[in-house]
Amino acid sequence: MNSEHVKVLIVGSGPAGLTAALYAARADLAPLVIEGMQPGGQLTITTEVENYPGFPEGILGPELMERTKAQVERFGTRFIFDQISGVDLESDPFSVSTDSSGTITCDALIIATGASARLLGLESESELMGFGVSACATCDGFFFRDKELVVVGGGDTAMEEALFLAKFASKVTVVHRRDELRASKIMQQRAMDNPKVEFQWNAVVTEILGSQDGGVTGVLLQNTQTGEIREFPTQGVFMAIGHRPNTDVFAGAVDMDSNGYITTVPGTARTSIEGVWACGDVQDSVYRQAITAAGTGCMAAIEAERWLAEKGVE
Ligand code: NDP
Repeated sequence: MNSEHVKVLIVGSGPAGLTAALYAARADLAPLVIEGMQPGGQLTITTEVENYPGFPEGILGPELMERTKAQVERFGTRFIFDQISGVDLESDPFSVSTDSSGTITCDALIIATGASARLLGLESESELMGFGVSACATCDGFFFRDKELVVVGGGDTAMEEALFLAKFASKVTVVHRRDELRASKIMQQRAMDNPKVEFQWNAVVTEILGSQDGGVTGVLLQNTQTGEIREFPTQGVFMAIGHRPNTDVFAGAVDMDSNGYITTVPGTARTSIEGVWACGDVQDSVYRQAITAAGTGCMAAIEAERWLAEKGVE
């Protein structure tokens, strides 16, 4: 297996990783980006992005990431299409093993592996993703004005998404698998007080009905108590059953919270390991926006640059 050394290694190529690369490259640090299995990150599975500054007409998620990558490449960043399989953050320099590019050592490591929305795992769900099925109300809610929608989940995200969607939709039905919500009391209360938000208790979505041409027309709901299945009409389905930070490979190597998000020193992108930074959704369960990911990517690169300069790595 080949092995190489770089000053700055960035793992992940969503808005956080690419922005970190942009700043590191312009600081002459010749960063290497390991793109992961979904180059461009979660934005590549959304459609129109209307809340990223600088695009008054909106921009398609995949196009935004292609353009960002082209901007980053202008300054000499290298990319490899691979994913990492292990890290040694106790060694100096740090050592990262990849699936097919051998071992890479680095002076500074920027973790930008993002998070993945949890999904139900239905075939119809993946087929209709972007065609009436979404995992991001902030991204896609606007397209569902005056529609009747379903939100799946019973946690804070589900309440937040339902409340956000209720601004546009004519009705939002929260489908929860139990008869008690997991969400905080205040979020539960807000959702219950909203006249547009209704609940289907003890129910799971077993199928999403519709087509890529016509969009979503309904879901099949199974009652978890009786097993009874019935059709429930809806024009959009929002999955809010949680996100999973993509941090399995870093378990035990860097501090994380109880949900597996990498912890950073507030106001910085620093992790528990000196020389390792984390940016974007891998360390953010609150905002989860492309713009905040890009912002923390910028922070990580600036902090890494200053740290390397102090260490005398030019
Ligand atoms: P949670 O894990 O808290 O909730 C996930 C919800 O989805 C649960 O109600 C769970 O049901 C349900 N669920 C999970 N898997 C399935 C499945 N396969 N089928 C059907 N339902 C399923 O995730 P959240 O994203 O809501 O929240 C994550 C963290 O972020 C929490 O700590 C939350 O408090 C925080 N957060 C805070 C916000 C705020 O304060 N404004 C906003 C958003 C998130 P069950 O309850 O039965 O397990």
